[in-house]
Amino acid sequence: MFGLNPVFIPGPTNIPDRLRHAMNVQTIDHRAPDFVEVFTPVLRDLKKVFRTRDGQTFIFAASGTGGWEAAITNTLSPGDKVLIARYGMFSHRWIDMCQRHGLDVQVIECEWGAGAPADRFAEILAADKRREIRAVLVTHNETATGVLSDIAAVRKAMNGAGHPAMLFVDCVSSLASMDFRMDEWEVDIAISGSQKGFMLAAGAALLAVSPKAMAAMEEARAHRCYFDMREMAAANASGGFPYTPPLNLIFGLRESLDMLLEEGLDNVYARHRRLAEGVRRAVAAWGMELVAKSPDLYSDSVSAILVPEGFDSNALTDHAYEKYHVSFGIGLGEMAGKAFRIGHLGALTDVMVLSGLATAEMAMKDLSYPIELGSGVAAAQEYYRNTPATATAKAA
Ligand SMILES: *Cc1c(COP(=O)(O)O)cnc(C)c1O
Repeated sequence: MFGLNPVFIPGPTNIPDRLRHAMNVQTIDHRAPDFVEVFTPVLRDLKKVFRTRDGQTFIFAASGTGGWEAAITNTLSPGDKVLIARYGMFSHRWIDMCQRHGLDVQVIECEWGAGAPADRFAEILAADKRREIRAVLVTHNETATGVLSDIAAVRKAMNGAGHPAMLFVDCVSSLASMDFRMDEWEVDIAISGSQKGFMLAAGAALLAVSPKAMAAMEEARAHRCYFDMREMAAANASGGFPYTPPLNLIFGLRESLDMLLEEGLDNVYARHRRLAEGVRRAVAAWGMELVAKSPDLYSDSVSAILVPEGFDSNALTDHAYEKYHVSFGIGLGEMAGKAFRIGHLGALTDVMVLSGLATAEMAMKDLSYPIELGSGVAAAQEYYRNTPATATAKAA
């Protein structure tokens, strides 16, 4: 009605006023020195969020899906072997893209609700004596199931097998909301987007690329044109773009980076963990379960919640929107009808999360779910009331 209700979808996320204002800019000439002054520091500060020193950052006018395409087309050739596990809609779609680009994709099928199987990767990599696998692809946070995978464990499996494959990680729905460490985990390409943890509109694919992946571009033979990173890198070196940059998103990103770095990345992660834990307490109080199989897999940016037998999760999300004008995430792929999702990433406060939980309760009650009004809200209230707001506060 007033456009004041937050969204509880796991991206695009709510845009804070500070960022909406920052994106509201008059055209400037992107070939003028003023643009260089904004753009070059944005690329530099973006590295801090990826936690990389040696990696090179890239911004393409695209959504996260374009980032996947940039990663594979710049570094691989048709027929190259890649290893990837399927455990949700996003890993599924990345697999589909690899196949359409003519890669030889070895897929490990996993149950939806499981994470990346580091032990299976270890076996397959050890058995690959001819070192034909060129890259291992992992979706860090599977947004369809609310599952966070352990990238350090995947890296350990790769190093344990002594395998030289590159590691590409989709961190679209984890970067700037959950701990991500490009250099420490030796990630070769990390792919993200503007519309989730960065709290901006969609339209900028954000990538960080290791020196090893940059070197792989020299021999890669996949067709690439718009997403050619070598052309982008050459233009970026003098502060420019090979074509027209998405100016408003770059101005927005300047402000978003300031917000994230002012809060401190560890505080950003702690805030997400705390908000997520409140949601998880509410889900438990409703007597419902998450799609994620075990607590070590719980995502702090989105919770996928199984609805009781005999209920249709898509009817629930439709109803919440029609009656209360509040959006929750629908069940995607195998989860259609079985689970709904509460996105809790980006610009969110305790108060906003509580309003989402209260709305979910009303919608469930309307549809005769066996829950008690206020039960989940009360569980979250108790948790928020008694838990310090930031990592700094926790340490103090
Ligand atoms: C949102 C998302 C993407 C990218 O989707 P776009 O709609 O292309 O921005 C990719 N992977 C994951 C895990 C996501 O959550």
